[in-house]
Amino acid sequence: SSFFANVELVPGDPILGLTEAYNADARATKVNLGVGIYYDEAGRIPVLDAVREVEQRLAAEAKPRGYLPIDGLPDYTRATRELLFGAESPLLAAGRVATTQTIGGSGALRTGAELLRKTLPHATIAISNPSWENHRAVFGAVGFDVVDYTYFDPATHGVDFAGMLADLRSLEPGTVVLLHACCHNPTGADLTDAQWRQVIEVLAERDLFPFIDMAYQGFDRGIDEDAAAVRLMAESGISEFVVASSYSKSFSLYGERVGALTVVSATAEQSRAVQSQIKRLVRANHSSPSNHGAALVAGVLGSAELRARWEAELGQMRERIHALRAGLVEQLAEHGAPEFAFIQDQAGMFSYSGLSRAQVERLRDEFGIYAVGTGRICVAALSLGNLGYVAKAVAAVSR
Ligand code: PMP
Repeated sequence: SSFFANVELVPGDPILGLTEAYNADARATKVNLGVGIYYDEAGRIPVLDAVREVEQRLAAEAKPRGYLPIDGLPDYTRATRELLFGAESPLLAAGRVATTQTIGGSGALRTGAELLRKTLPHATIAISNPSWENHRAVFGAVGFDVVDYTYFDPATHGVDFAGMLADLRSLEPGTVVLLHACCHNPTGADLTDAQWRQVIEVLAERDLFPFIDMAYQGFDRGIDEDAAAVRLMAESGISEFVVASSYSKSFSLYGERVGALTVVSATAEQSRAVQSQIKRLVRANHSSPSNHGAALVAGVLGSAELRARWEAELGQMRERIHALRAGLVEQLAEHGAPEFAFIQDQAGMFSYSGLSRAQVERLRDEFGIYAVGTGRICVAALSLGNLGYVAKAVAAVSR
């Protein structure tokens, strides 16, 4: 008899399935806007110069491959804290911030979820509607009830801020609230700094627990500007919160799985206790993180020269996304679809384009342009070379 005879086949990830369909498409003009990856003008995932430099040095050194500490490479976790909070943050000096190297931003979410599941009284998390679908899966997997708060307004293609505040106010005290720091996935609709201040006020008033997901630091306004949510939270009266961060996009290191879980505690003593709990969780999961990606990031951030080069390269990616947004809007207008001007106001790699499922299907069938069924497109997967083609197609299915 088979132990697996009754195991059901579950459907694959719809977004990854899209790439399979794209790969099988024989049309030369095909475009894959379904991905969550930044591509350069040549359609490649960039290898940043600063990263390559460290990589070559590491290869030449050929150091022994021992285990990292359970919570990761110390140079990496320190640099990460400083990037999130700013090196001068009093929280860092007070020893209230503990950072753990994780397996991508996803691993940070998972480990953070496990920590909160054990330590908080309420196993409910509120995520934005819509949110990155894996938020629901990760928190659900560790036993959280996942509820939505109002976020995106399809009419304005921006944030329904009044709706968001009202929903946050109605949450039970002790509920965890998942917040996208910047470059909201999937919508591209972000809060302003003034709106962050208001959200933070409500979180404090209602005794809600903030869990910030920052997967795109530096992809909209700049490294410090995009960290506004974290910085404002740190300056507020809220003394405990969590940040899950990722270098997948900002260092173009997707497959190296470089992320971090950062927990702010009220005191240094509590911070040490929290960190000991996190280490126990990691030990029982993957025991310790892997070396290579963290060594690359630490090598770049630990050298003033390489760090400057990385900042410039990150700036180029950011500027290119802005140029693609502007170009797309301009070309759409030229093709008779001026109603897409909002794409320029959205931030980061993604745009909730407002295209319907039927329009997305037409784009795929008639033009070989692949987008997510919800209408999410990855602006960072466009190129100046195919902007015109995409704009013409989108205009055609919008009529
Ligand atoms: N959070 C959000 C909002 C994301 O978009 C992503 C990546 N798609 C992640 C977390 C996970 O990042 P990583 O690939 O580093 O696990």
